[in-house]
Amino acid sequence: MANYERVESDGSRRRYRLSSPVSLEPLGEFEAMNAEDVAAAVKRARKAQPAWAARPVSERARYLKRVLARVLEAQDRIIETVVRETGKTETEAFAMEVFSSCDALGYYAKRAARFLRPEKRRIHGVMGIAKQLRVVYKPLGVVGIIVPWNGPVILALNQAAQALVAGNAVLLKGSEVTPYSTALVGELFREAGLPDGLLQVLMGDGETGAALVEAGVDKISFTGSVATGRRVAEACGRSLTPVSLELGGKDAMIVCADADLDRAASGALIGSCMNTGHYCCGTERIYVVDAVYEAFVEKVVEGARGLRQSDAGESDVGAVFWDRQLEIIESHVRDAVERGARVRVGGARNPDLRGQYFQPTVVTDVTHDMQLMREETFGPVLAIMRVDDEEEALRLANDSRYGLSGNVWTRDKARGFALAERIETGGVCINDMTLTYGVPEAPFGGVKDSGVGQVNGRDGLRGYCHAHPMLVDRFGGKQVQGAYPYTEKGLAGMKKFAKFLWGSRLGRLLS
Ligand code: NAD
Repeated sequence: MANYERVESDGSRRRYRLSSPVSLEPLGEFEAMNAEDVAAAVKRARKAQPAWAARPVSERARYLKRVLARVLEAQDRIIETVVRETGKTETEAFAMEVFSSCDALGYYAKRAARFLRPEKRRIHGVMGIAKQLRVVYKPLGVVGIIVPWNGPVILALNQAAQALVAGNAVLLKGSEVTPYSTALVGELFREAGLPDGLLQVLMGDGETGAALVEAGVDKISFTGSVATGRRVAEACGRSLTPVSLELGGKDAMIVCADADLDRAASGALIGSCMNTGHYCCGTERIYVVDAVYEAFVEKVVEGARGLRQSDAGESDVGAVFWDRQLEIIESHVRDAVERGARVRVGGARNPDLRGQYFQPTVVTDVTHDMQLMREETFGPVLAIMRVDDEEEALRLANDSRYGLSGNVWTRDKARGFALAERIETGGVCINDMTLTYGVPEAPFGGVKDSGVGQVNGRDGLRGYCHAHPMLVDRFGGKQVQGAYPYTEKGLAGMKKFAKFLWGSRLGRLLS
């Protein structure tokens, strides 16, 4: 049985049946909203948004605090819903969905008013003598947020909280693989007292998402695969709708000769297997310099053998959330083996479990013609390649159409920074797996095929606003700058002034 499959429906909406990745038993059915439902939701959002935008940011931020309190109170419900639908471990459901959500809510609740405060900006040069500049951050209006299934609560809640506190109304479209988790985000905001219409969850599939993109909203914040991101960008291009795209990755890990190998091996295991490897910044390619290759592989193999996988009780690596992803993982490993790679641990579905479980897997002797090193695998697989030196590691790390994140392991911080700077990705971590999504001070976003734009933190929050500059005369001067009629005398005066400004020492000082 597939995780979600279309079933007969008696109405105009598409109907899906969900099943558990853990037990393969049915979980329930839901109806996908159609274009008319989406249009009606946009209408409700447009009605609710102006009054919300008129409230001070500090008041809007108080709602985030209430949602934070709800998340803490409802943590068991969140964990249960996410685990039921995805099969991830309880620890991961807590760390990724509950803890990170609390952190994001607390961060923006505390800082939004400061980040969105109107600013007086100094104007350079002579214009600054006559004019004053004030920038206010105005909400965009109605924002569509489309999210995937790998972090169904945090990815939805983090962006929704930012868009809302910035004064927008939000239409939130979760994945068809995890509709109940995203619906729960809507419930938490409702239970926290958020006025009606401001956060509406659109239950649905890809067609619902496409309808949202076409519905005339004021921004689309998309998180998902490169292929869908491209379609969303094309549609947004046609309607000139602003869009941010957080897409897939194929993150590289570089292990230098002076790395702390115990730490690096444990970083490789968690980086590749956390969230069953369904992590956009998961470690998908590992390049290890020759001098420490054997020792590193030995430690990783030993660590991987010790990882527990179970459908009941304590477990380190959970189920594969989506049956289609399981097929992709299997096909990448099969392709690697056919081309000469060696499976050192795992390499197949877990034969002892009924559900969708792929064993934690270590593969060596990989090369860059294998899908495992070129396409996003998104599974609990460590693909390790021996390289001569750091330069070769860097060249191979950059030989990818993806550019989301990556990590470098060395005891020498300066070497770490030097290598990190040359990795062609949106961000890099040194001596840790990639954690930048959880650090709002770090702008987050991919380069190359991994995305367009950056999210989170002060600038991400401002990305849900229009920075509205207002220029005013300082002294209320009588003369409008450059006013008609143009005269030869006026032009000569301007030329003389330009010569003074950029042709004399005093002028350059003023300009
Ligand atoms: P996906 O692209 O298949 O789906 C993402 C969302 O888009 C879903 O809600 C889906 O219903 C919707 N959708 C599908 N077709 C659409 C269309 N034509 N128009 C509008 N919306 C549409 O991705 P997925 O399989 O759900 O998620 C996994 C991918 O997400 C991986 O590639 C992963 O790396 C990426 N991801 C990226 C980040 C990041 O921050 N960069 C974070 C998490 C996941």
